[in-house]
Amino acid sequence: MDTIGIIVPCFNEEDVLELFYKEMHKIMDQMSSVRFRIMFVDDGSRDNTLGILRQLHSIDPRCEYVSFSRNFGKESALYAGFQNLDADYTVLMDADLQHPPALIPKMYEMVSSGQCDCAAAFRKDREGESKIRAFLSRRFYGVMNNMSSVEMRPNATDFRMMNRKVCDAMRNLTEHHRFTKGIFSWVGFHTEWIPYENIERAAGESKWHLKSLLSYALNGITSYSDWTLKLPKYVGIIFILGWIASIIVLRLLHHAFTMPDAVFSLILFCSGILCFMLRGLGVYIYRIYEEDMNRPQYLVKEKGITDGKPEE
Ligand code: UDP
Ligand code: MG
Repeated sequence: MDTIGIIVPCFNEEDVLELFYKEMHKIMDQMSSVRFRIMFVDDGSRDNTLGILRQLHSIDPRCEYVSFSRNFGKESALYAGFQNLDADYTVLMDADLQHPPALIPKMYEMVSSGQCDCAAAFRKDREGESKIRAFLSRRFYGVMNNMSSVEMRPNATDFRMMNRKVCDAMRNLTEHHRFTKGIFSWVGFHTEWIPYENIERAAGESKWHLKSLLSYALNGITSYSDWTLKLPKYVGIIFILGWIASIIVLRLLHHAFTMPDAVFSLILFCSGILCFMLRGLGVYIYRIYEEDMNRPQYLVKEKGITDGKPEE
């Protein structure tokens, strides 16, 4: 019998948890040939979320929970879910029913049949979302896909089902500043996309505000790109071009260089050189950062080795 494990991060979700369980119950009844484990991760909620989780655990042993000592953020909650759950197929899902449980049977069919390693949902539109958030989100994916080494699908969500291989890869990436959407792209494997209509939260309100969204975006950019460390190179080029232009202009204006002209020109030149040196340092800083994250050199999807030496 296959086991489907569902990781549900919860932060102040008392209004919606019972509704979530009710909807999940329907799906669990419908998929009676599969064993379910729902791992709720209470991310330091200040309302009665933990009380409800204790109650769900006591009435249905398929509902399990881990509760954090304080709010560590959704990314940490997802990671805790990976660490505390062992299942053949793992699903990531928000508690607010914005990720329709009705997609789970379809995801299971796709992943268990071997059609893909990961079945991921993406929103067809951003209906119901504030204009500014939708705009910033579009810009973020544009910038991200231009600057980073990984490709991220706009409108993708964390709502997905993955097989054991993908789940193990996700669990084994232990970097501190996690950015799950980026990690999914980084680990690779075959992902199939399922579109769905954007749905408003069933109850309660979004935990994200502009500041946390910006810091989430910055985390994504710095985790998957050394763009910020490359910046001094471009600033350096501007300084050196400015220095060359200043010499040409001063030559055209004056017969001889005055002291202030020489100082001005020297400042531009030295600033340019300093910026290039900063970029040089940045190359090593990024390498140290990458080493520190300790991501594996590669991930294996399949092997067909005859008389091969076992891996060390
Ligand atoms: N969440 C969390 N910790 C946080 C913020 C959010 O565990 O610090 C959970 C939240 O309970 C929900 C999911 O992450 O299950 C998505 O949050 P939300 O619905 O507020 O985000 P939105 O759908 O607006 O992007
Ligand atoms: Mg939500």
